[in-house]
Amino acid sequence: MTELKIIRTLDELRAVTNGWRRQGETVGLVPTMGALHDGHLSLVRNSKAQNDRTVVSIFVNPKQFNQQSDLEAYPRDEAADADKLRSVDVDVLWAPDADEMYPGGFATSVDVGGITDCLCGATRPGHFAGVAVVVTKLLLQSLPDRAYFGIKDFQQLQVVRRMVRDLDIPVAIRGIDTVRERDGLAMSSRNWYLTEAEREVAPTLFRVLTDIAESAGTDGDVERAISRGRSTLERKGFGQVDYLEVRDAETLELVRRPTRPARAFAAVFLGKARLIDNVPVDPAA
Ligand code: AMP
Repeated sequence: MTELKIIRTLDELRAVTNGWRRQGETVGLVPTMGALHDGHLSLVRNSKAQNDRTVVSIFVNPKQFNQQSDLEAYPRDEAADADKLRSVDVDVLWAPDADEMYPGGFATSVDVGGITDCLCGATRPGHFAGVAVVVTKLLLQSLPDRAYFGIKDFQQLQVVRRMVRDLDIPVAIRGIDTVRERDGLAMSSRNWYLTEAEREVAPTLFRVLTDIAESAGTDGDVERAISRGRSTLERKGFGQVDYLEVRDAETLELVRRPTRPARAFAAVFLGKARLIDNVPVDPAA
């Protein structure tokens, strides 16, 4: 078992990762905001299988929160996270504080156009600019061979892919399948906000998405499936629906009768939690 090294300064991170590279070892990076669950650990396992060394970053990035209250309430438990990372033999936990990540006078932004206009980009202004700048920094700080992102945050994955391609950042981006609870609920740090009663109804979101995706894939009436889904969510006690849509998997444009890979996407409030999820539409189904 390797000992987990917790690193808080960029100088130390560079010294450690440069040392690995000098020995010809490959490096995988798993960026997270902590409050780790099995979804995060699945990314880690993929990285461990494909690289000699794995760095997991935990940084609750203030730039990607559009509400101060959301940032403050975000769950944090570094000691428990470190134990989970030890259990899967991670080499380094990169846990800089906000001043290390954004020193005084920080003035640069990274703006990915087009695909950030819809879905979470439309409902959370500035969110993807915050994601883009922090992911760029995390990639340049650790210079990994491969970096791992969840398909659960599908739009984020596409934004990162586009940015890496456009800016010639030399890293392979890997998208990893969504890990779900036994009842279908996608694992998420935000599930911590759910009350017991809300947790009971939360898997409805996955069922609604599956229903919409089936409809879209079998020439069904997508609009009807979506309005049926909205009523189901309302009846079960969900709150505001930010979006419930079928979009092309590559361009993220709205589609009614997909002929290319598409996905059904949702962002819905349940109590204090804003749950997001997406499932594939198989046009051949
Ligand atoms: P977060 O800590 O929520 O920012 O997530 C860090 C990474 O883990 C992101 O790439 C997420 O897409 C990924 N992730 C979050 N939840 C899951 C899940 N249930 N299954 C797989 N990956 C996930």
